[in-house]
Formats: sequence, structure tokens, C-alpha cells
Amino acid sequence: MARPPRFDLLFGPVRIGPKTARNRFFQVPHASGMTNANPHVRAAFRGMKAEGGWAVVSTGACSVHPSSDDSPFPFASLWDEADIRAHRVMTDAVHAHGALAAVELWHGGAAAVNRTTRHAPLSPSGVPWMATHVGFMSSARPRVMDAGDIRNLIRWHAEAAKRAERAGFDILYVYAGMGYLPYQFLLSDYNHRTDAYGGSVRNRVRLTEELIDAVREATGGRCAVALRVSLQELRSRPSEVAPSEAHEVITHLSDAPDLFDVKMDYSATDCSPSRFTPEGSHEPMVDFVKTLTAKPVVGVGRFTSPDTMVSMVRRGVLDFIGAARPSIADPFLPRKIEEGREDDIRECIGCNICISSWHDGVWVRCTQNPTAGEEWRRGWHPEIVRRDAEGSVLIVGGGPAGLEAALTLGRRGFRVTVAEAQRDFGGRLLWESRLPGLRQWFRVVDYRLGQLRKLPGVALHVESRMEAADVRDFGADHVVIATGARWTANLCGANEIPAGSLVGPRVYTPDDIAAGAEIEGPVAVFDFDNYYMGSAVAEHLAARGLDTTYVTSAGSAQSWGVMTNEQPLVHQAFLKAGIAYRTLEIVEAFDGETLSLAQIFTGERRQIAARALVVVGQRAGGSALYDALAGTGEPKSLVLTGDANAPGAIAHAVYQAHRAARELAAAAPRIRRDAPFAMRDLDACGEAAQ
Ligand code: ADP
Ligand code: SF4
Repeated sequence: MARPPRFDLLFGPVRIGPKTARNRFFQVPHASGMTNANPHVRAAFRGMKAEGGWAVVSTGACSVHPSSDDSPFPFASLWDEADIRAHRVMTDAVHAHGALAAVELWHGGAAAVNRTTRHAPLSPSGVPWMATHVGFMSSARPRVMDAGDIRNLIRWHAEAAKRAERAGFDILYVYAGMGYLPYQFLLSDYNHRTDAYGGSVRNRVRLTEELIDAVREATGGRCAVALRVSLQELRSRPSEVAPSEAHEVITHLSDAPDLFDVKMDYSATDCSPSRFTPEGSHEPMVDFVKTLTAKPVVGVGRFTSPDTMVSMVRRGVLDFIGAARPSIADPFLPRKIEEGREDDIRECIGCNICISSWHDGVWVRCTQNPTAGEEWRRGWHPEIVRRDAEGSVLIVGGGPAGLEAALTLGRRGFRVTVAEAQRDFGGRLLWESRLPGLRQWFRVVDYRLGQLRKLPGVALHVESRMEAADVRDFGADHVVIATGARWTANLCGANEIPAGSLVGPRVYTPDDIAAGAEIEGPVAVFDFDNYYMGSAVAEHLAARGLDTTYVTSAGSAQSWGVMTNEQPLVHQAFLKAGIAYRTLEIVEAFDGETLSLAQIFTGERRQIAARALVVVGQRAGGSALYDALAGTGEPKSLVLTGDANAPGAIAHAVYQAHRAARELAAAAPRIRRDAPFAMRDLDACGEAAQ
């Protein structure tokens, strides 16, 4: 299909200092949970994006020196020869597909508490970094940097830049954002210095400027130098000579780097969930940058619409369409637009399971793209599934898991029939995507249905509830059961001991609300699931005008939402909607009028009036259909997958189904274990021993 000419603008080459990007698609540095301990996993993950058409592919933050150690979060380093070897695998993979490789040279300063290397954290003025949103990171009091420390920091960047060039990187970032050390110099709240690096904005940008110069000099102008800078706070600070301090900073640095990468300051605003933030949310903070510099500018905004991308360039907001999440959900996004296949884009849904993986310390996981992080380990390609099968498969259930299984099995060459009991496909997302803010999550269904409708040999049937006899009569060679899970009214006791199911008048689960139960207010929502459902149901009920109280056994609303950057925004939404919330309490009883609560640590009892209770705790999987068929010998090949197999996040259901489909009637999968390059394997030694 021909590409609409209006998208041509996205595909011309653009210069970045001494380098040329082949188009305007720029995968900015983002956390992946992949470190130098898994060089091949990382290389395959990043290389896939180069194959998918991104002009620039960056690796994540890369420590320049052991005094910047982000543990227990996974992080990469460029400290020595072994690190150069590890990164070289990635840059080779990126270059093999014609893209430029970028590295984000990083010093965390007070935001890196050096749990492993045990260096005293560095800072401009001894002010601890307060803004960390992940509770288990302590804000150790950092050391004040003296003139020698500043010289060292500049030298470490220069030396890391030389190593980066030897590792094959084309673009080297100086990172003055997200609370890290050069950013702390930019912000007067962290920088109280009275020397040439503190006071006026001119002085506060000096360190960043010197780092840019040092990186350029160290690599003799052969590599492009990018500056990544957070502008949210600076833009809110008045300036006597410019509209804001952000304007002043960009003006001072306008000629210094070869590229500006501009962003927000905090994970929850920078990588904000779609539930609370639309596409292009950074624009109001970064829209002025191009008016103050002739250098190219890249920025992000969860862009998946090519029309929005064109608009960003045409309106002079950005030169490059930056992406982290959209490139994870669809590494082939640029190629699809280039080939006029924008309908095939696997659009990011903005759920932030990817960022939660980094917080969890594991490789990136993605709801939309089950192959993310599995490119090397399992050899999975996001677009190519080997056509190696024949025969028929009946899939029972057309939710995320059933549809994912159908797509992958169809691509393998099976004749696929999907039977769904409801009037529409979508499973749990039919209702969940109608909860406040979750509309974009339906992209999980839209993408798969769109692809399935193009596949020959796939039959899709709604209003087709299957019983065991129907399945047997159908006579497929293989049967996949993806019938989902249901919410229970089980309670939890103190000490996380499971309590029995609550039976009584006006006790509901999310499934009851989805089925249209008429809820009376005042209503209480008891949440010990702690992911999105409890808070989204509370918002949904409040939006219907019900007096709503949210009760949780955890210390905050949607406590696991700290992992997905939702938590601060959930609290804001509760305040706006007038939802009362009570923490550290469990429900002991409910008689339809009075809710009995107990404090989880002290056992102290409270009672509140309520006419309805919604329990959001546990889901039960399993499938009566599967049980009726299993072990009967008919069908011979029977698989249980998705939430019916193990209820979890949508990402888990999609992954399970993808894996089941790859492995159905196939040879045993080969799973590779990655290993780091070690100094002992190499001749030279570096500074890492410090
Ligand atoms: P998952 O996340 O694992 O895909 P969902 O609950 O989202 O699970 O989807 C399961 C789907 O299976 C639902 O749409 C449900 O209507 C359908 N389903 C359940 N039992 C049957 C059945 N016996 N026949 C056909 N469809 C069924
Ligand atoms: Fe987008 Fe969710 Fe995938 Fe992250 S996990 S890239 S937010 S779809």
C-alpha cells in the first residue's frame, strides 16, 4: 500500500551534528531492566527497533563512574573494557539495520544512593534528592562536591565518552534531567553554591555546558553530542530576563549540543499512564525550545498517530518523533508508517507495565507486545512467526488471551476458529475499557481483531458459548481454552491470611457491576488487589453520583500503582471526585447497612454506614469447560491459557497465550541464558575496582 504523501515529511534524512539520521523516528533512552549482565538480550531488544525502522536507537542510562550506582534498580555502566564489550554487541545490532546508536551518559548524584559501590552520593549542595516516588529507596544525605569533584565528574564523562565511542556509539548524551546530578545543578532548590557553578542561571548551567564540551572534545567531534534536559520545574520558575528559567537555560545552551532531547522531570509526569494523560502531554512544557535554538529537538508524548507526529513537526514543536513506550509496543512502527500500513501499528495502550518491569528489576514486559524482552532468550520476533503448522484449532474465549492465541496460531498456518460467548470480542476489556480513563486499553483487542480479519483461515464467531459436547462435536485437532477468570468476594485477614468469602446482602464484585448490578450509595470499595481495578471501580461509582469510600489494607490507594506511575495520579483523581479513602484497614463484616473494619496492625475496630460493598480482592481462574474435557482423550490436544490458567494482569494473559500458541504442536523451545563479559576474560583493566 502506498504511503499517504502527508507522512513523507517523517522520512527525509536529518543531520545531528556529524551524523545523519535516516528519518525522524528516534527511540530515546529508556529503562529496559537490561544491563551489561545480559548484553545479548539487550542487543536483540534494541536491534529489533533498528530493524523496525527507527533512525536512532538509544540504550538506557549508563553510569559513567561507580559513584553513580542505581542499585537495586537495574542499570548499565561504561566503566571498563568489559562494559565496552557488552555495549558493542548492542551497537553492532543497531548498525546492522542502518540506525544510529545512542548512549545516555549518566551520573545520578544524590538520586543514586550507591547501595552496591558504597560511594557517598555526590551533590551540588548536600540537599538529598526528595522526589523519588519508589518508597524503598532511601534519601541518603549526599556529600557536597568541591572543585576537585567537579573536575573529576567532567573527566569521568570524558573518559566514558571515549569508551562509548570505542563501543560504537554515534550519539553521546549528557543527561541533565529527572533529578540526576547536572539537573541538580540547574535547580536552585538543590544548588546553593556560591562558586562559579551556583547562583545565577548562567552559573547553574555551567556544569552542563562543560560536560557537553568535554564529551565533544574527548571524541574529537566525531560523535554527535546530545543534551537531555528536564524542563517542567524550570518552566514554572520566573526569570527576570526570559519567560522562565527554562527559556534562560535553553538560550545559554542553544549552540552547545548537536541535539536537544527535552522532557518532564518526574517519572509520573514523564511516563504518565494513559488513564490520566493524553498523547502529546509534554508539549506545553517543551513547545518553546525550537524557538530558541537551531539545533534539532526530540521529545516524546506516547505518539502512535502519524498525523499527530506530522503535526508536531509542521507546527515547529519537534524535529524528531521521540518514543520509548510506542517503540516497545511496536518496534516496527516507523516501517509500518513508511509502507502505508499504519493500520497495522500495535499501539501502546499507556498501561505502564513496561515501567513496572524496571521497578521490579526485571527485563521489560509489555501488554501489547508479548515478544518484548524475549527476542534473544526465546528467539521471538514481534512481526514474524514461522509458518510451520497445519491442522485446525478451536479457541474458546475471545478475550485478550484467546485473540492473541488466534493471531499467533493463524500466523503459524493453523486453521483457526474462535468461539466467544458474548455479543462482542474483548473479554474483560469489554467492560474494563469503559472504566474512567481506560478507553485506550481496548487497543489490545482492536489490534488483534484488525490483524485476525486480514488473516486467511481464521473464523471469528460471537454469541457462541461452547459446552464440552460442542467442543467434541466441532472436532478440531487442537483446542485452546481461554475462558478467563472471575472476581470473588473472598476477604483477606490481617497478616495477609486469606479469609473466607463474604456472603450477604448488597455484596458485589467487579463482575457484578460489569453485568449491570444496580448499586446503592453510600458504597464502599474494599481493595486488596491493589492494582487498577479497585481505584477504577471507585472512580466509576463516584462518577455515577454515588457517595463512595475506598478502603484498602495497603498504606495508599492502589498501592501497586507506584510501579506503574499511577499512584500519585489516583490520589489526585480521588480528591477531584470526592472519594473518601481509608488505608491499612480490612473488612471484617458487612450486613448490608454497616461495614465493620479493623486496623491491620492494631486490630482496632471501626464501623461505617454503607448500603453496598464492592470487594476487589482475588480472581479465580479455572474453567469448568476445561475440567470437563481434560483427561477424556477428546480432544487429544487441549491447552488452558490466559486468565483461566493463572489470573493476572492483561500482559500476563497475552504472554501466556502467545507462548502457548508458539509452542502448540511444535518442537521443544530453545531458551538461551545470557551471561556478562567479565574483566577476567579481557586483557585490560579499567577504573571499576574503585
Ligand atoms: P483472558 O484475559 O484470559 O483473555 P477474559 O476474561 O478477558 O480472559 O476473556 C475470556 C472470554 O472467554 C470472555 O469473553 C468470555 O465471554 C469467554 N468465554 C468464557 N466461557 C466461554 C465459553 N464456554 N464459550 C465461549 N466463550 C466463553
Ligand atoms: Fe505501552 Fe503498556 Fe506496552 Fe508499556 S507495557 S509499552 S505502556 S502497552
